[in-house]
Amino acid sequence: MMVRTVLSLFFSVVAVQLAAAADDAAGREITPWQPGMLEIHQISTGRGNSGLYIFPDGTTMLVDAGEHARKTPKHTPDRPNGTRTAGEWIERYIRHALRHMDQPALDYVLLTHFHADHMGAVGPETPMSASGAYRLTGLTRVGESLRIGTLLDRGWPDYNYPAPLEDAGTKNYRAFVKWQTERNGMRVERFVPGRKDQIVLRRNPKAYPEFEVRNIGANGEIWTGVGTATRRHFPPLDSVPRADWPSENMCSTSFRLSYGRFDFFNGGDIPGIPSEGFPQWHDVETPVAKAVGPVEAAILNHHGYIDSQNEFFVATLRPRVWLLSVWDTGHPTTRVWQRLMSQRVYPGPREVFATDLHDATRLVVTGIEKIASARGHIVIRVSPGGGEYRVVIVDDESESHRVTKVFGPYKSE
Ligand SMILES: [Zn+2]
Repeated sequence: MMVRTVLSLFFSVVAVQLAAAADDAAGREITPWQPGMLEIHQISTGRGNSGLYIFPDGTTMLVDAGEHARKTPKHTPDRPNGTRTAGEWIERYIRHALRHMDQPALDYVLLTHFHADHMGAVGPETPMSASGAYRLTGLTRVGESLRIGTLLDRGWPDYNYPAPLEDAGTKNYRAFVKWQTERNGMRVERFVPGRKDQIVLRRNPKAYPEFEVRNIGANGEIWTGVGTATRRHFPPLDSVPRADWPSENMCSTSFRLSYGRFDFFNGGDIPGIPSEGFPQWHDVETPVAKAVGPVEAAILNHHGYIDSQNEFFVATLRPRVWLLSVWDTGHPTTRVWQRLMSQRVYPGPREVFATDLHDATRLVVTGIEKIASARGHIVIRVSPGGGEYRVVIVDDESESHRVTKVFGPYKSE
């Protein structure tokens, strides 16, 4: 009996892998998620960062839903186009990616930090929610129409580190949190570094014991790599001048997701190179990298901006696959690109996939023509068990969901 069960499980796993491998081909609509698969989507909107995760048992998580206000020649166009807001495009993308569900919903939403390109900007023109309690932009727009189980951020409940967060965007977000928790049954928790039981499989955890989301850091508190212990990376605020206090980016939440041998890192906008004249502890990447170790894939911190991906971080994580969420001429800079590509920093092959590389960046960044894909939604599809994964690029010019390229399979190590 046991042998038969194991054998049939083995053959069903093989069948799922073959189906996934056979179906995703350029020119066809991306195939639906299947049980056992892990999917990581970076959604291209031209307005900020947004990542949808579908865990092996079907648990869903959204990490950020940005909608920054600026559109200048430094920015790429809206994707697919300007007829809808980024929050609306994200919601529609999620509904398609979750079309295997009767009622698409988000078990978790994680906000990495309180910036418009991760949660949405608010202005006088920003439309009001049905309740009138908050305005609809980015994350609040998505949460208006998709049910959220648990929301995690770095600030709840007091939102006062390192100083009270009083800007219009954060006030609007907090009004959304208040209304959704009091009126709509949403849970909210502060993201706690070191834990691996805050983001868990919600539907069938027993079937996937090799799946884990480890909280790495937030607000300068960083996992040590031992048990759930953390240590403070930032000095006490009263010991440093106010001008040196940690920035919003430095406080970003970061996590490592593991499925069998497959590991993935997301660190929000943490910097790794202090701005000129600032203290060395403004480098958050180094202690984070020590806790994370090598991974198969990672999203670039801070969109590959000038202060990110220091040499130690790149060498320690040494991923096969880098994801780049970009819409601005500053993403990535030449030196960041050179660190990513350097065989001295770490040996072996690697590929970089960007949501939307700006034309100016293509002109000025030396060697950028080696990028594997410069445009489109990026989907990492990890096979059941985590042993191998592919990168699928999906058209972002329309809602065709048409695959434009498939890379891999890559073996997890
Ligand atoms: Zn950002």
